[in-house]
Amino acid sequence: MDLDLSPEHVLLQRTIRDFLAAEVAPVVEEHERAHRFPSDIVRRLGTMGWLGIPIAEEDGGAGLDTLAYAIAVEEISRAWGSLGIIVAAHTSLGCGPLVIAGTAEQKVRWLRPMASGEVLGGYGLTEPGAGSDAGGTRTTARLDEADGCWVIDGGKRFITNAGQAGTYIVTARTGTTDKGDAEISAFIVPAETPGFSIGRLEDKLGLHASATGELLFDGARVPAENLLGERGQGFRMFLKILDGGRISIGAMALGLAQAALDASVPYARSREQFGRPIGSFQGVAFMIADMATEIEAARSLVYRAAWLKDQGRDYGLAAAEAKLFASEVSSRVTNAAIQVHGGYGYVTDYPVERFMRDAKLTEIGEGTSQVQRLVIARKLLDLRVV
Ligand SMILES: Cc1cc2nc3c(=O)[nH]c(=O)nc-3n(C[C@H](O)[C@H](O)[C@H](O)COP(=O)(O)OP(=O)(O)OC[C@H]3O[C@@H](n4cnc5c(N)ncnc54)[C@H](O)[C@@H]3O)c2cc1C
Repeated sequence: MDLDLSPEHVLLQRTIRDFLAAEVAPVVEEHERAHRFPSDIVRRLGTMGWLGIPIAEEDGGAGLDTLAYAIAVEEISRAWGSLGIIVAAHTSLGCGPLVIAGTAEQKVRWLRPMASGEVLGGYGLTEPGAGSDAGGTRTTARLDEADGCWVIDGGKRFITNAGQAGTYIVTARTGTTDKGDAEISAFIVPAETPGFSIGRLEDKLGLHASATGELLFDGARVPAENLLGERGQGFRMFLKILDGGRISIGAMALGLAQAALDASVPYARSREQFGRPIGSFQGVAFMIADMATEIEAARSLVYRAAWLKDQGRDYGLAAAEAKLFASEVSSRVTNAAIQVHGGYGYVTDYPVERFMRDAKLTEIGEGTSQVQRLVIARKLLDLRVV
C-alpha cells in the first residue's frame, strides 16, 4: 500500500497551488464583494488545461485521472470556493454526461470545446419542485414529428454557471414508463437556443462570485441529435453523474476546510491574550488538533473514492461516504476557524467567515447530507430506506 501521491500528482498540485497564489488570490475578495463572476480567470484556467482534467485527450481534455481532478478541485477551492464550484460543475456535471453518453459526433461538437476550456458547461437537473426528489422533474420535452425537433417546456432552479455557460445538459420528462414513473431523458441545450433563457440569479449565503440561477424553457427547440444517451435513460445517467460529482464536491469541501486550518494555525500562534499565544491554551490547541485530524480523514475518503473510480471499481458507496463526511467536516472545521479567530473571525477582515459560508453549500449540493445517508444506507442494507 502506497499512500504517497505520484510525482505527476504532486507536480499538478504544486502548479495549481502556485498559479492560484500568484494570479488568483489577490483578486478573490474584490470579486466576492462585487458578486462578480471571474470570467477572465475561468478563461485562463481553460488555457492551462484545467477545465478538462479527467477528460481524454482525444476529447479535448488533459487526459489525467480522477485523483488529479480531485486534487485540482481541492487546490482551487482552497484558494477560492466560488472558482471551485464553477470548475466542478463545468467538469463533472457539464462535461460528465457527454463523457458517459455522448456519441462520437456529440463529443466532437459539444464535449471538445468544453473540455478544452473554450466553452463553459452547466447541468440542469434541479427544479423548484424537484430537488432531492429529482425523479419529480416537471420540465417536459416533446418530439415534434413535423421537423423532428425536441420542444422543451418548464424550468430549472439553482443551476451553477447559469448565464455563463455556453452549453447546458438538462433533464426533462419525455413520457411515462410502464410502471407509471416519469420517463426522463437528457438533452444538450446550447445557450443561444430559441425559447431558452436565463431567469433570476440567486443571491446566496456564500460562493458569491459563482453564478446560480434559473434556466427557463418556453417551447425551446433542439434538434433530434441533441438527445443525449437513449430516450428514457436520463434518470440512470444522472445517478451516475452524481456519483462522480460527489467526489468533486468532497474535494471542494476539503479545500475549504484546509484553507480554514491554514488560516487558523498562524493566527493561533501570533494572537496573544493573557500574555501568551492563544494556541498555547489547550482549548484552542485542541480545536486545531481536531481540525487537522478531521481534514486528514476526509482527504483519505475523497482520494480513495477517486482512486476506486480510476481503478474501474465500484465507487458509488465510497463517493457518497466521502462527500457526506468531507462536507460535514468542512462545515465543522470552517466554523471552528471562526472560533479560533474570535471576533476577528466574525468580521470580513479575515477570510474565515467566507470559508464557512462557502462550505455550507457542500452539505446541500449534489445530494444533501440526508440524501447521502440514504444512498449509503440503501447500499449497505439493500433495502428501500426512505
Ligand atoms: C449554490 C447551489 C448550486 C447548485 N448547483 C446545481 C446545479 O448546477 N445543477 C443542479 O441540477 N442543481 C444544483 N443545485 C441544487 C441542489 O442540488 C439542490 O438544492 C439539492 O439537491 C437539494 O434540493 P432542494 O434544494 O430542493 O432541497 P429539498 O430536496 O427540498 O430538501 C430540503 C430538506 O429536506 C431533506 N430531505 C429531502 N428529502 C429527504 C428524504 N427522503 N429523507 C430525508 N431528508 C430529506 C433535505 O436533506 C433537506 O434537508 C445547486 C444548489 C445550490 C444552493
